[in-house]
Amino acid sequence: MSAPVPGSPPLLGKVAIIGLGLIGSSFARALREKSLAQVISGSARSAATCALARELGVVDVADVDPAVAVRDADLVLLAMPVAATEAVLRAIRPALKSGVILTDGGSTKGNVVAAARAVFGTLPAGFVPGHPIAGSEQSGVLAGKADLFARHKVILTPLPESDPAAVNIVRQVWQSMGAEVLEMPVDRHDEVLAKTSHLPHLLAFSLVDTLARESENLDIFRYAAGGFRDFTRIAASDPLMWHDIFLGNREAVLKALGHFTEGVSELRAAIEQGDSETLLGIFTRAKVARDHFTHMLAGTAYAKTMKPKNIEFAVQPGGRLAGTFRVPGDKSISHRSIMLGSLAEGVTEVSGFLEGEDALATIQAFRDMGVVIEGPHQGEVRVHGVGLNGLRAAPGAIYCGNSGTSMRLLSGILAAQPFDTVMSGDPSLSKRPMERIAKPLRQMGADIQTTGERGTPPVTVKGGRALKGFHYAMPVASAQVKSGVLLAGLWADGETVVTEPAPTRDHTERMLRGFGYDVQVNGPTVTLRGGGKLRAMKIDVPADISSAAFFMVAASIAEGSDITLEHVGINPTRIGVINILRAMGGDLTVLNEREVGGEPVADIRIRSARLHGINIPEDQVPLAIDEFPALFIAAACAEGRTVLTGAEELRVKESDRIQVMADGLTTLGIRCEVTPDGIIIDGGQLGSGRVVSHGDHRIAMSFSIAALRASGPIEIEDCANVATSFPDFTGLARRAGLNIAVIERV
Ligand code: NAP
Repeated sequence: MSAPVPGSPPLLGKVAIIGLGLIGSSFARALREKSLAQVISGSARSAATCALARELGVVDVADVDPAVAVRDADLVLLAMPVAATEAVLRAIRPALKSGVILTDGGSTKGNVVAAARAVFGTLPAGFVPGHPIAGSEQSGVLAGKADLFARHKVILTPLPESDPAAVNIVRQVWQSMGAEVLEMPVDRHDEVLAKTSHLPHLLAFSLVDTLARESENLDIFRYAAGGFRDFTRIAASDPLMWHDIFLGNREAVLKALGHFTEGVSELRAAIEQGDSETLLGIFTRAKVARDHFTHMLAGTAYAKTMKPKNIEFAVQPGGRLAGTFRVPGDKSISHRSIMLGSLAEGVTEVSGFLEGEDALATIQAFRDMGVVIEGPHQGEVRVHGVGLNGLRAAPGAIYCGNSGTSMRLLSGILAAQPFDTVMSGDPSLSKRPMERIAKPLRQMGADIQTTGERGTPPVTVKGGRALKGFHYAMPVASAQVKSGVLLAGLWADGETVVTEPAPTRDHTERMLRGFGYDVQVNGPTVTLRGGGKLRAMKIDVPADISSAAFFMVAASIAEGSDITLEHVGINPTRIGVINILRAMGGDLTVLNEREVGGEPVADIRIRSARLHGINIPEDQVPLAIDEFPALFIAAACAEGRTVLTGAEELRVKESDRIQVMADGLTTLGIRCEVTPDGIIIDGGQLGSGRVVSHGDHRIAMSFSIAALRASGPIEIEDCANVATSFPDFTGLARRAGLNIAVIERV
């Protein structure tokens, strides 16, 4: 709510404020500034404060007797130390007008309500306790300011006896002062504030007092660094006020102090024993939590890549590509490096980790289960493995964000743990089917429940089940389901065998082997036996071939190009893009082939070539499923016709990739025809125009490279999601030779 319209009568007639210090005088100043009251009356303990408040114009009238101050008031605010509440209420009770709204700003609520009950017996309907979460370590009438509550929270703790109309008026007053008003029960308020405000003040008082009593205290304070100053600023707060708060909120403060003492003892023991793992664990968890709160409080996204809503790319025509580059790490492998690293014995060092939101959700899940994970810092992560039996119950539900990979693979791991877990996700993940992984896990003996008729998240996994290996003939090819079952098999009694109807990505099998686990692969069948061990390793995550694909196509179509992409993952289940481009006449050379953590990688040199249209072999479709948007651009630049069939799945990706690509190509003057399971594209001259990516990162990147062969500029709408899979796409594209600009629209 904003301030009343000038000229309209104030919301309130007379307002009385008992206590004219920081809070009371700020309230009075804000009432005045926002024209919320006709008359402001005040009361303080000393005549001097009353006189000063009048002189400063903070109040119209003031009296040391609070009963005089409240006479005829429509609203009374108690703003003195909370321990005085009972005495003040007794004093003003006979003078209160009937129907008065009685509220307060005290930092504790349970004892204020108890004081009111002691005085009134039955609480008046106009009684609405409150607490502004605003203030400072200064006190007194001179410290007050009119905007103290603006952009701060005020917690109201209405009681069953409180009249909703009275609650509403108190809410309106605070909102008019620019505050955000929340409601919560009295007990909850005291518990939350004990932890977030009272405990930190206690620690600050204690630290300063302890150090000040030491003999060399002068030196200590002289050399005090910024950390000491920041941490102890609040020790300058008003002693009487805090004395009242700690005694007033005794139970909740003692509970919070008990928890804190346990935490300090754990740190002390770790330092005594030189237990660096525990220390790193506590510090990394604390750092992540603090960063998370900072984002939360700033209202920004969890991950560091903050995506402004409306990003467009504008690409100038022409250019040629040159140089040697490494594109970001593979997402599937990034996820698995954290999972297997956590379950391994020893420290797994990961480099080239893709710091996208999905893989960050996996890191958080394992941190929640007690694994110490350092980083990620510029793609480097150190995972302190806890072994197959070292995970601990997470303190709450595990939040998987938008990551289906995290949730499905974790299902397999959690099914075998001794503790219960709930996994939840964002609104989009909450719609995705989870029964496809829950069903086979149940056959192994897991107790796992999905939600609703469609079997969606949240997923509840009960712990303490003994799993048995079995042979699972998968009805639908899915790398995530296969991986979930195989991971559960690590703890199962006997052999777990999975047979897939069509080849899917085999990153889990490969990485398990890399971690020293015996995994047998026989055609479409994978077998492993429970009860082994994983040994920590170094993983240099291969560059994602799906990200490399844009540059493979770009260098192929832009005349005079010659680039080398380093350390690209060339897992045989993913190399369709290389095979298809070569079949179209592309000039791609695979160099320096090697194996990293069980995964084949290579450097790939691409030189421009005259491409020609082909009928894409259907057996290549699953091997290039994510790369088709880029391949369609290659087809548009090729001589003749390219025909894709057997690719229905493309219609249910992040967008209907066939239709969206066809729309964009048509806009750019390329003839194409959408078929039920694919597309027919006739190569030609790309024109200029504005295309829509529908928030699909791969569509946005594909049309960016199309500009290399376009006759005019190409503008692409809705490109913010590019950051999720390819954090610095535009930077790398520019270094490679593309003339691409990013436009942020508001
Ligand atoms: P303050 O600046 O120290 O002012 C306290 C005021 O109360 C002074 O005007 C004082 O009068 C008066 N007072 C003291 N005892 C009284 C009594 N028995 N009867 C009548 N008036 C009395 O304190 P504050 O920071 O404004 O805090 C006021 C209340 O707000 C407290 O309940 C506190 O818990 C709460 N609160 C404080 C903060 C904060 O950061 N400071 C934040 C949120 C809530 P004299 O000037 O004559 O001594």
